[in-house]
Formats: sequence, C-alpha cells, structure tokens
Amino acid sequence: TKDFAGKVALVTGAASGIGEAVARQLATRGAKVVVADLKLDAAEKVVAAIKSDGGEAAAVAVDVAQADQVEKAVQFAVDTFGKLDLGVNNAGIGGAAAPLGDYTLEDWHKVIDVNLNSVFYSMKFEIAAMLQSGGGAIVNMASILGSVAFPNAPAYIAAKHGVVGMTKSAAMDYAKQGIRVTAVGPGFIDTPLLAALPKDDYDALASAHPIGRLGKSDEVAALTLFLLSDAASNITGSYHLVDGGYVAQ
Ligand code: NAD
Repeated sequence: TKDFAGKVALVTGAASGIGEAVARQLATRGAKVVVADLKLDAAEKVVAAIKSDGGEAAAVAVDVAQADQVEKAVQFAVDTFGKLDLGVNNAGIGGAAAPLGDYTLEDWHKVIDVNLNSVFYSMKFEIAAMLQSGGGAIVNMASILGSVAFPNAPAYIAAKHGVVGMTKSAAMDYAKQGIRVTAVGPGFIDTPLLAALPKDDYDALASAHPIGRLGKSDEVAALTLFLLSDAASNITGSYHLVDGGYVAQ
C-alpha cells in the first residue's frame, strides 16, 4: 500500500545499512524521500535504485556534525518536494573502541558530534519545517546502547543515551503542535558498520542475541516506518527496541 503517499521524508545516513532500508521502504510506500549522507555518490546510487523501482527520491550531501549543513539539507527537502513531514535521524558512527580512561578527547568529540549533536541539529531544523507544514513525525536512531552498556564504547553509549533523552524532551515540547518524536533501539544489525569486526567477534555478537542471529536493516526499517505512520498516532516520547531479545535477557 502507498500509505505514505503525499509525505516528504528526510533520512540521514541513508546511503547504507539501516538508513538505506528506511529510505527504500518509505519510497516503496509512496513517500518522496531525501537521501542525505556524507557520501554523495553512494546516496545517488540509492536514489537511482528507488527511481528504478518507480519511487521518488533526491540525494543531498550532508555532514550531520555541521549545523549549517543540516540546515541546508532540510531546506533542500523543502525546496525539492515542497515541505517536510518525516525525519529519520539515523546517521552515525561506531567510533574508537577503548575503555573510558584511554578514550582520547578527539575520539570523544568526534562520536558526540556525529551521534549526538547531529540529532539536536537535525531535530531543530526539521521541527521548524514541520511547524510550517502543520505537523510531522521524527524517529531518532538510538541503539540498545541507549539503555544498556557494552565494553569499550563510552562515547557511543553516552551519545545514544543522550539521543533517547533528547527524544523525550522534544516530544514534550511539540506534542500539542502535532509533531511526534520517538527513538528506535536496534540490537546489533548486520550492516557495514559491523563489517570491520573479526569473524569471531561477529559470531559472538550474533549468539549474544536470544534469537541467535544479528538483526537485519529491513527489520529496523519496519519498526521505524510503523512509528512514522499514522497508525502510531498515540505514540510519542517513547523508545522502542528491535533487538532479538538482547535487552530482555
Ligand atoms: P552504516 O555504516 O551502514 O551507515 C551509516 C551511514 O551514515 C553511512 O552511509 C555513512 O556514510 C553515514 N554517515 C556517517 N557519518 C556521517 C556524517 N557525519 N554525516 C552524514 N552521514 C554520515 O551504519 P548502520 O549500521 O546502518 O547505522 C545507522 C544507525 O544505526 C547509526 O546511528 C548507528 O549508530 C545505529 N545503530 C546501528 C547498529 C548496528 O549494529 N549496525 C545497532 C544499533 C544502532
């Protein structure tokens, strides 16, 4: 069904993994999608794939760690498709792996800029555009590490906990103006983000999930689209896991 027909969506980090799956599913269901990513060539490939499936999309280069670039990407969505209804703030990096005491200041600031400050910039400009179009819905891509810990990832865990908190805050501030804000917490998902892992670590991560495997980008996208859809009209300020039972154990 084309239940997103007439909606305009901005998806950051949409050239790969979870963001790409969200962009493709939104386009299949009728949304006009802005595929925003640091990597413009890869974003343009996703747009070409969406168009060859009969969907509507446009690519824009953005470094989500730069507020002025995020503002321009939101303006690009409005200029290209006339308004903004949906925002999926998904761009993110894993960052360096080290215990807190060994984490360099440079690595700390990099992860906080790309995974946390980016979500503030994105929501700030998306909300301004959504107020113009009478409302909207935002999904922030957090992680299971937005509520539980894992070794050697102090900045990532702080950032993702922060994304969950900022989601609640924005939801309070805009509930009466028709903007819903939620967060998604994926378990470990089989995307290029994990491709750098040695095979033993990859297998251990898979078996750390009660369902016995890593998640898939399309499974995260399915939850994200539900939260963006009108079926979720009473859902705001909440954080939703898609983690194969990881946090429950
Ligand atoms: P991915 O590496 O496959 O895709 C991330 C995309 O973001 C890439 O296309 C990359 O170019 C883009 N990107 C990176 N830095 C950027 C920047 N500064 N500005 C704009 N774009 C940038 O990763 P993924 O696994 O699909 O991750 C997507 C989101 O899901 C991230 O926020 C990640 O933290 C979160 N997440 C991933 C997992 C997992 O196991 N893969 C688990 C939980 C949460």
